[in-house]
Amino acid sequence: MKNAEKYRDELVIYNSLSGKKEKFEPLIPGHVGMYVCGPTVYNHVHLGNLRTFVSFDVIYRYLKHLGYKVRYVRNITDAGHLEEDSDEDKISKKARLEKLEPMEIVQKYTVEFHRILDKINNLPPSIEPTATGHIIEQIEATKEILNKGLAYEVNGSVYFDVVKYNREVDTYGKLSRRKIEELIANTRDLEGQDEKRNPQDFALWKKAKPKHIMRWPSPWGEGFPGWHLECTVMSTKYLGEQFDIHGGGMDLKFPHHECEIAQGKALSGKDPVRYWMHANLLTMNGKKMSKSTGNTILPMEIFTGQNDKFSKPYSPATVRFFFLMAQYRNVLDLSEEALQSAEKGLKRLREAMQKIPSLPGSPATEGFDVQQWRDKLYEAMNDDFNTPVAIAGLFEGAKAINRIAEGKAKISPADKALLKETFDTFMFDILGMPQEEDESGCTRNLESVIRILIDLRNEARKTKNWALADQIRNELARLGIRLKDGKDGTTFEIT
Ligand code: AMP
Ligand code: ZN
Repeated sequence: MKNAEKYRDELVIYNSLSGKKEKFEPLIPGHVGMYVCGPTVYNHVHLGNLRTFVSFDVIYRYLKHLGYKVRYVRNITDAGHLEEDSDEDKISKKARLEKLEPMEIVQKYTVEFHRILDKINNLPPSIEPTATGHIIEQIEATKEILNKGLAYEVNGSVYFDVVKYNREVDTYGKLSRRKIEELIANTRDLEGQDEKRNPQDFALWKKAKPKHIMRWPSPWGEGFPGWHLECTVMSTKYLGEQFDIHGGGMDLKFPHHECEIAQGKALSGKDPVRYWMHANLLTMNGKKMSKSTGNTILPMEIFTGQNDKFSKPYSPATVRFFFLMAQYRNVLDLSEEALQSAEKGLKRLREAMQKIPSLPGSPATEGFDVQQWRDKLYEAMNDDFNTPVAIAGLFEGAKAINRIAEGKAKISPADKALLKETFDTFMFDILGMPQEEDESGCTRNLESVIRILIDLRNEARKTKNWALADQIRNELARLGIRLKDGKDGTTFEIT
């Protein structure tokens, strides 16, 4: 860890707010506050959602690796997210249609969400707050914005006055670079329009119609909070009025994040976020993966192969590696070729890593500069978390391993240790590739234990103790671990 801190001053992050890459300087040295918009738990997470959560998982992992103390808050939206063109909450609607309690819907999809994130090897965030757990804070924030004269009440709903904010506080639209006049001109006639002073105004609090199941008492009658407000109150509560990083998918930039900026600034007078980060979309056949258009595939459909789009199953590790083969700010298209190439690439890297311990040691390294190679991997990650460049670096490392194994290059014991440490760090700690060989249950520890047994077997063979050598090989084979003796030493395969 200490080792990595020296790289930390070079981290540059693309800030969607300035539209530029900026040197990363957290508000409190050594500490990072990061908020990422979580899922609305009314339906299965699809692979597009998953890509965004994996992107931020790698960002979280890398910041931690650089030695920062990171508080990572990712919410669960379990109330308040309206259906497009309607005044019904997505969860309430699903509960009504399925004749379930809203909290049954929430529980079902939250549990599933965690299970999928676990499979894809994401780390849990430090805090995972829910919208329904922060109704009081949302009511308080609404009152405060009303007191500041930047919101108004109509028929039991409270709306944020975007035009007044834009005139008196700060430009509305600065994140998505939209002009308020154009926004107003382009707004369709949506629900609640008759109540709003301006079409761009958004609800802080909505009056609940009689059919609406999720409702809470408030100074304005029974209702529920507006979606944008939960993220403002939860980020403020756990990270402060100003914090370092706010992330989410590209599609949240407008209006969700724009509204968060306006709410935050209305409440505290400060811009709430230093670095706005947006992960780009996953597409399928060139079209955005999205629940509303039905252009989706579910993670489990890919992992089990039960789908009509792909010829075979792809493991969570393969899918994760596929995501990371693109930079998070680029669009990524899901295709069989891309999944196959991820699968092959990952296998190549794992095989190379397996060879490291048995590489012949030489007094000095020749033909491969390990330190320079390692620096390049950090350079890639420091350049706005450029995982594809880091992965390309790992492939270079794999090539070097093969050259050394073939005797075309040499490595000293110290460099060999650094090579192994760098591979382990980047593959497991930073990219978050699972240490388990998916189905086989082989952990990194088990791998090390197998290595010890291989060494013991080699010792046994040296002393011509064939019985012991065979016993080790046969016992391992019985557990599905096959040893293969080649000219580069012994490797193993888990079947
Ligand atoms: P939702 O549950 O719809 O609020 O989405 C959860 C997260 O997934 C948000 O950050 C969205 O921006 C993100 N997201 C939705 N669709 C996609 C997609 N096709 N590709 C990448 N991220 C997406
Ligand atoms: Zn949010």
